[in-house]
Amino acid sequence: MIYLCAISNIRSGACREDCKFCTQSVKWGADIERFRQKSIETIVNEAKLAKKNRASGFCLVTSGKGLDDKTLEYVCRATKAVLKEVDISIIACNGTASKESLKELKKVGVKIYNHNLETSREYYPKICSTHSWDERFETCENVKSVGLKLCSGGIFGMGESEKDRISLLNSLKKLNPDGIPINFFIENERLPLRATHTKDMALKIIKTFRTNFPDAVIMLAGGREVVFASEWFEGIKAGANSIVIGDYLTTKGERADKDLEILLKRGIKVANEC
Ligand code: SF4
Repeated sequence: MIYLCAISNIRSGACREDCKFCTQSVKWGADIERFRQKSIETIVNEAKLAKKNRASGFCLVTSGKGLDDKTLEYVCRATKAVLKEVDISIIACNGTASKESLKELKKVGVKIYNHNLETSREYYPKICSTHSWDERFETCENVKSVGLKLCSGGIFGMGESEKDRISLLNSLKKLNPDGIPINFFIENERLPLRATHTKDMALKIIKTFRTNFPDAVIMLAGGREVVFASEWFEGIKAGANSIVIGDYLTTKGERADKDLEILLKRGIKVANEC
C-alpha cells in the first residue's frame, strides 16, 4: 500500500529566514516565482486534480518562519474551501506554530501538520542562523499535544555527517511521527550548499528509517529525481511507502500520471485515506 501526497505552495518566497537549503529565502536571491497568496479558487482546483491523481493528502504550504495570525486566517479559509468540495486529507505546513494556532487549524478540519526537524540539532546552526532547531522541536511537540497527526522528517545531503543523521533519527524517535518525509537536497546555483548525497546513501537512510519506524508512513519527498533519476522505485523497495506527486515547492517533480502508472503496473495499491 502506498500513500500519495500533493503539495500546493500557497505563499511563495519573500522569507526573511536564512535556511541555506531554501530558494524561498530572500537572502539567496534565487530565481523563483514569488507571490503572497494563491487564490482560493486555484487551490481548490489543485486539490481536485490531486484527488484525480489518487492523492489522499493535500498539503498547504506557506513560506515564512511561522504561523502568524494572517497566515492562520488564510490557511483556515483555504482548508474550508477545499474540504467543501474535495474529499481529501489536509496537511498544513506553515512553520513554527503555537498550540493555540494549531487548535484553530484542527477545528477547521486540518488533519496533519508537517514540520520537519530538517537535520540534527548539532548541525542545524550550520544550516540556519535565524531560528533554532529547538523551536522546531517544540512545534512538533505542540502538534502532538493538540491531537493533530505529526509529519516530520528531514533533508539529507546538505553536508551532514552519518552521526548527524543518527542524531536526527534519535530526535524523531522522541516525537514518534505518524509520517516521515525523507528529502534529498536539491541544488540551486544561488544557494550556498552543494549536494553530498549518493544513491547508496539514500537507500541506506530509507532502510534505516524503515527499521526504526516500522509503523510510520515513510515518504520519498523532494529530490527523489535527483538521487534516483527514473529508478525512484528502488526507494519504495528499500522501505518508503509514500511519495509526493506532482511539483515540489519551487522545483518541478515527475508527472503524477506517470508515477501512478509505474505503481499500478507493479501491482501496488494506492491508499484512499491518510
Ligand atoms: S523558514 Fe521556511 S520558507 Fe523560510 S527560508 Fe526557511 S525553509 Fe525557506
